[in-house]
Amino acid sequence: MAVKSVALVAHDNKKRELVEWAESNRERLAPLRLYATGTTGRMLKEALGRVDLVSLLSGPLGGDQQIGAKIAEGDIDLLVFFWDPLEPQPHDPDIKALLRIAALWNIPVACNRATAEFVLASTCMTDDGYRPRKPDFSDYTGRKVTD
Ligand code: PGA
Repeated sequence: MAVKSVALVAHDNKKRELVEWAESNRERLAPLRLYATGTTGRMLKEALGRVDLVSLLSGPLGGDQQIGAKIAEGDIDLLVFFWDPLEPQPHDPDIKALLRIAALWNIPVACNRATAEFVLASTCMTDDGYRPRKPDFSDYTGRKVTD
């Protein structure tokens, strides 16, 4: 069975919630490959004792873009992104880009704890028969058709 990969990101006011969610789902996360932005990754490594978790750059320093690139390359199966709906971030353009690229490549995205619970408990996470359909952009020219 192919190992599924999960990317985890949480803004500062949401980090505690993400860590609590991860701790309460330790067993479900155990067989999954984990990636995270810098600070989120450090906290998760400590909380879960997962030395294999891959920490990327901190979000504001390019970590969101690194995760976006991995999604575009087909390396991420689920994005858990607890973004802060109450505070603007210095890297708001990167956040928008990450959410856009996840939508474009048909990646499930959990933006809050309730959704993360639903998605992680889904048989789709364990059933190797399910893979989200990858869009076919082979004939995409990058131009809008106007006529
Ligand atoms: P961090 O990045 O995990 O390094 O804090 C998250 C973010 O703010 O996008």
